[in-house]
Amino acid sequence: MSPEPVLDRFSYDAYLAMLLRFRDAGYRFAPFGQAERLLAEGRRFVLLRHDVDMDLDKARQMARREAEAGIAATYFFLVRTDHYNVFSRFGTERVGEIVGLGHHLGLHFDCAAYAGAGVAGLRAGCSREAGMLEAWFRAPVHVVSYHRPSELVLSGRPGLSAPRPHTYLPLFSRTIRYLSDSTGRWRYEYPPESEALLRGLPVQLLTHPVWYADVPQRPHQALRSILSAKADFLERSFAEHCRVMREGVTEPAGPGRDRQSDGDDRAWKDAA
Ligand SMILES: [Zn+2]
Repeated sequence: MSPEPVLDRFSYDAYLAMLLRFRDAGYRFAPFGQAERLLAEGRRFVLLRHDVDMDLDKARQMARREAEAGIAATYFFLVRTDHYNVFSRFGTERVGEIVGLGHHLGLHFDCAAYAGAGVAGLRAGCSREAGMLEAWFRAPVHVVSYHRPSELVLSGRPGLSAPRPHTYLPLFSRTIRYLSDSTGRWRYEYPPESEALLRGLPVQLLTHPVWYADVPQRPHQALRSILSAKADFLERSFAEHCRVMREGVTEPAGPGRDRQSDGDDRAWKDAA
């Protein structure tokens, strides 16, 4: 059974204080591509990683706070998810701002979206999705993280994401200490109290922006709040696009109104 979450740790203030503990201890915040060099030089560093699973607004809020503190992270975005769309107007604004703040762009790759694919199929999908992010946001994608990693992924095979490295390679998950807030809990070690920080060892620090807020909520409630905000957002968007939604009435079917696209076309003219 999972331990109870310590909610205080998931306020933005506590989050930033946690990062500053590392900086005060002589750590730098580095992109994944610098890890090998920094290791060879014996430096203290944090690979700060955010897997964006549910919500772009939450990611942007975290990105802004980090940027104010002069800290750059790597944000990993899903391309084939039903939870958000990085290519929509809304999504492009948010991801574009995150990249514009100086954060690094990564691909969060869901193998489950490629049912039955082998290593070659996953590699091809990974390359295609990374290329889409790079082309749209005009920023390089140097690294891939896996959403809900399978046994195959956890085996650390480099070929899955080649030529880009992925975050479960032994370099990133074993040589470098790995600490994660998955499910809204620091289940193994809380980073400020970790052995890694005490000993000055390099760390890959994975956080998920959905768990953080000015006033944090228990993990399940945090997700319900995001869901509720999404429902409001979609309702406003439906209303913007369709008079039926704006007026809250159901028109009777009639001549020329029995095709679904007919109502949509007229609503678009209304909105214009
Ligand atoms: Zn994920």
